[in-house]
Amino acid sequence: MRIDAQHSRRSFIRAVSVGTLAVGFDLTSRAWAAQAPQHAGPDFRHAPHLDGRLLVAPADLAPYEDDFGHLVHRTPQAALLPGSVRDIAAMIAFCGPLGIPVAPRGQGHQTFGQAQVEGGLIVDLGPLDTISVDPAAQTATVGAGAVWSAVLTASLAHGLTPPVFTDYIELSVGGTLSAGGVGGASHRHGAQVDNVVELEVVTGTGQVRTCSATRDADLFHAALSGLGQVGVITRAVIRLVAAPTSVRSYSLVYPTVAALTAAQRKAVGDGRFDWLEGTILPAAGGGWMYILEGSAFYDTTPPNDSALIGDLGYVGPPQIQDSAYFDFVDDLAPTVAALKASGEWYDPHPWFNGFLPDAATDTLAEATIAATTPADLGASGLILLYPVPTARFTAPLLSVPKGELAFLFAVLRTAAPDDALPAPELLQANRDLYLSVQAKGGTQYPVGAIPMTPADWRTQYGARWQQFRAAKQCFDPHGILAPGQGIFRRA
Ligand SMILES: Cc1cc2nc3c(=O)[nH]c(=O)nc-3n(C[C@H](O)[C@H](O)[C@H](O)COP(=O)(O)OP(=O)(O)OC[C@H]3O[C@@H](n4cnc5c(N)ncnc54)[C@H](O)[C@@H]3O)c2cc1C
Repeated sequence: MRIDAQHSRRSFIRAVSVGTLAVGFDLTSRAWAAQAPQHAGPDFRHAPHLDGRLLVAPADLAPYEDDFGHLVHRTPQAALLPGSVRDIAAMIAFCGPLGIPVAPRGQGHQTFGQAQVEGGLIVDLGPLDTISVDPAAQTATVGAGAVWSAVLTASLAHGLTPPVFTDYIELSVGGTLSAGGVGGASHRHGAQVDNVVELEVVTGTGQVRTCSATRDADLFHAALSGLGQVGVITRAVIRLVAAPTSVRSYSLVYPTVAALTAAQRKAVGDGRFDWLEGTILPAAGGGWMYILEGSAFYDTTPPNDSALIGDLGYVGPPQIQDSAYFDFVDDLAPTVAALKASGEWYDPHPWFNGFLPDAATDTLAEATIAATTPADLGASGLILLYPVPTARFTAPLLSVPKGELAFLFAVLRTAAPDDALPAPELLQANRDLYLSVQAKGGTQYPVGAIPMTPADWRTQYGARWQQFRAAKQCFDPHGILAPGQGIFRRA
């Protein structure tokens, strides 16, 4: 079967999503309810003097009432454009004793209100976007508001690159380090959070602290994949590796989920690819296409095709493409531009993102696909399915299933903007799928739109729940940070 350009991995939006809260979604009646403001009208007139700016005009705050999901809308009272880390510390110290909720915000690309706050303060990390590369140490010191495309550009000037990228690279460093940051190189290098040397964090009491695996380790481990619960990440030191010049990418089609995952298990087992993912797409004539996407990096000599893919048992001719490394990492850019031009980028995105245990992957994925129509996914929707050895994930709060191998599974739907019904129905579908995944020992990757109960969150973190709760109480004693995640409720 030939995969045309329109159906190749790189022409579709894919993303990962991490779960979220039940606020506003009544799980019993399966209906949306208006969310009561968490804080009625804090008075920012007595806010501290700032190096940056505090926005309070409704027109200035409007962008912060939305996110990539376009499902949840909350009105903040103010937004901080920090001129310094000191500004963030001062505003958090001001908000804490008054109980004013504070939402750190990068690019606002989580999909269920996670980076929003009702009646509180948004901390827009955008202005903190400096990047400095140390070629000798092979690290980049990066402001949390910088986007990964800028980190890549700065690193490549020294022949270096971060080892792991998400599929879309216009996300903020602070935003993906708060989630995890999973991509096609994760089978080799773990998530982005596994490649952080040091963080600077402003805690929920306004303290500025530098932490690492050996210094203030409790804070370090609670901030990485910590969904903004213990502090605002303001700076990160990121590990870099040598960047290749070029990439050869293979798209291989399989007839079933089981055939796809069998080939992926083989490839991940022997580590033949530098980058490995998989996509499931509606096929032109009906049914589905199951596509393994593997890539090999090279500088001068391209890889031997038959050695790389000859034993992978695909059907039809493989699609093979060579790209410059930057273009490979940034290959969603043309699709995003097209979706913005068509307006689909701005439609609701009730995304499901999870990790499946290896043993249950085929049955869960098959059942989900059997219950899904192309219309459910929307015109630009797709499903991602790819394996990651769990030993690569070392950050305690990036929850993955037990067992040696897990599969990232993402059902990336776009809902019609002009129909009131689909989004709630699709959110319920996300919840039903989450419960099936949870019953098999799977977890959600909390960037998407899955209504969660308090019991779900405890299950999500399992043995790590008490540790996470203790860190929240220690570093955010007023319980003001990132309430949009809905993990910890204030009394
Ligand atoms: C098109 C698209 C593709 C994607 N592809 C992938 C992918 O391949 N792999 C993957 O892992 N993810 C992917 N994602 C998900 C993405 O990684 C997360 O949604 C990420 O958190 C978004 O970053 P952001 O800057 O928009 O964060 P925001 O949405 O602004 O914030 C996310 C959460 O983190 C908190 N936060 C933000 N900045 C900070 C900070 N500096 N300190 C503390 N807390 C903070 C916020 O309060 C919020 O709770 C994709 C998302 C999209 C929209």
